[in-house]
Amino acid sequence: MNRPHIFFLPLMAHGHMIPMLELAKLFSSRGVKATIISNPAFSEPVTAAQESGLDIALKIIKFPPQESGLPDHMVSLAQFTTDELVGKFAKAVDLIQDPVEKLIQEYNPCCIVSDMFWTWTVDTAAKFGILRLLFFGTGFFPMCASEEMARHKPYKQVLSDSEPFVLPNLPHQLWFVRTQVPEFQQVEIESHFSKLMDRVRESEQRTYGVIVNSFFELEPEYVHYFKEVLGRRAWNIGPILLYNNGDEGRSERGNKSAIDAHECLTWLDSKKPNSVVYICFGSMAIFTRAQLQETARGIEASGQDFIWVTSDVGNEDGTEDGIPEGFEERTKNKGLIIRGWAPQVMILNHPAVGGFVTHCGWNSMLEAVCAGVPMVTWPLCAEQFFNEKLVTQVLKIGVPVGSKKWQLGPAEGVPGEAVAVAVCSIMASEIRSRAKSYKEMAKRAVEEGGSSHKDLSVLIEELRAM
Ligand code: UDP
Repeated sequence: MNRPHIFFLPLMAHGHMIPMLELAKLFSSRGVKATIISNPAFSEPVTAAQESGLDIALKIIKFPPQESGLPDHMVSLAQFTTDELVGKFAKAVDLIQDPVEKLIQEYNPCCIVSDMFWTWTVDTAAKFGILRLLFFGTGFFPMCASEEMARHKPYKQVLSDSEPFVLPNLPHQLWFVRTQVPEFQQVEIESHFSKLMDRVRESEQRTYGVIVNSFFELEPEYVHYFKEVLGRRAWNIGPILLYNNGDEGRSERGNKSAIDAHECLTWLDSKKPNSVVYICFGSMAIFTRAQLQETARGIEASGQDFIWVTSDVGNEDGTEDGIPEGFEERTKNKGLIIRGWAPQVMILNHPAVGGFVTHCGWNSMLEAVCAGVPMVTWPLCAEQFFNEKLVTQVLKIGVPVGSKKWQLGPAEGVPGEAVAVAVCSIMASEIRSRAKSYKEMAKRAVEEGGSSHKDLSVLIEELRAM
């Protein structure tokens, strides 16, 4: 049988690399030859996939490349907090076109699945006569909302930062305030950021189609909107993580865990069902010291048992974890602090976990949906404010903490009282039963005959036919 060979080119940051690797694994398990191109730092999870018998090849390209002059840890746009730095990121992105093209010449794939920031892959694909598919790593809803925000600019119609406005045209009436729109979008001055985002949009329009890590039942109106109203070709094939449900994969997913999985599970086993709040803001978030103090105050005031994930990238000066003095001692019977990488999917799926305080990264949000856990939404940047609306206003499986400002760099502005109120209110039963029903729908979507399973088959058949 014709065995298509696909190159997978993720942005080399955890939130992009984890789902892209899972995507490559998924394609490989369905008879596709997969080659993943990535940074040295991510070779371990690929080697683990190879050892489990999957036929995935790994080709290493360093990002950011030496010539860019950027330090090794600067991998994702979220870390580039000034426009000058964004300019450097854009240059670094372009520098890896050449090495990737050399690999294409050597290995002859029929298709490249590209992260949105590798905008040049659309030209590369045309040059070699191969397909370029886009993997946004986000869902239909945020893609539709962000397109309508860019087209209609409704934030220009309001007189103040606090005056709410509705995003026009979409199937639901969704309210925003101006500060939730990225500043670079509001000021219509050409910047490195605006140029980069223009390139992303332009290359999206020329791409063959979009692979979406979502499932039809989660956002049916927006699957329709994306395909029929915005006129894009797309396949909904997620939640990708549910195809790979081995427990080992879950505890060490994407990175080395900072806590022994057994220790973590034993701690959770000692807690009552739905009594623990899990607090984690993905792989990139940074908070001011004042915000960490407020968060700690809120967690303590909520009276809930908790797991709080912090790290040295999680605070302003990057030197300590920023947990206020005395907090850990005072809460030692109620809480577990994980400094570094947490086994998130494993934690979310433990019956003791009853709520998730999240920054609304698409992966984290989807992982909560798959675990049936309601959320406190605390968006910071990227498309997270759109994801928040999906969770709170469309799916109604979460409550907002009241984050009002899109911000790159150290985040602040949420008082401890708001944290406590939101944490207490997600324990409400109506939200929980709705969250559980989405968990069931997600499971069915990836089973044989399910909506995502079918769409994946359609895509693979299309690739074979080519
Ligand atoms: N993650 C994890 N442990 C951590 C922090 C993050 O396993 O301590 C994983 C999380 O499960 C998710 C990814 O890292 O799969 C983060 O992606 P997301 O889109 O939520 O946010 P980003 O890090 O891109 O902002």
